[in-house]
Amino acid sequence: MDKTHVYRISSHIGGVIQTIRTNPVTWEQAEAIAIKHVPKLDETRHYVIQEICTADEWEEGAVNFCPRCGSKPFVDRFGDFDCDCGATGNITMSLLSVDES
Ligand SMILES: [Zn+2]
Repeated sequence: MDKTHVYRISSHIGGVIQTIRTNPVTWEQAEAIAIKHVPKLDETRHYVIQEICTADEWEEGAVNFCPRCGSKPFVDRFGDFDCDCGATGNITMSLLSVDES
């Protein structure tokens, strides 16, 4: 089976930005979700699919990617990173609430 990842699907339709986060799926499944949920604009669908992380990384709360280029730089234990694209940054996470429904 192909490796699955959590993906973010972003679309921009009629001035509205819609974001969908998938469960762990393959790239082909993520694309099928985008085609199903992003309405057609003229003859095309306008969306971007970004890989966020694997299911394990998501469960461990170790999501990390460069917001500038989308690649996954090495993040040290303090959350600091230097990306190959030239960006530097720090990642912090706060869990405000969890909806268990
Ligand atoms: Zn980068």
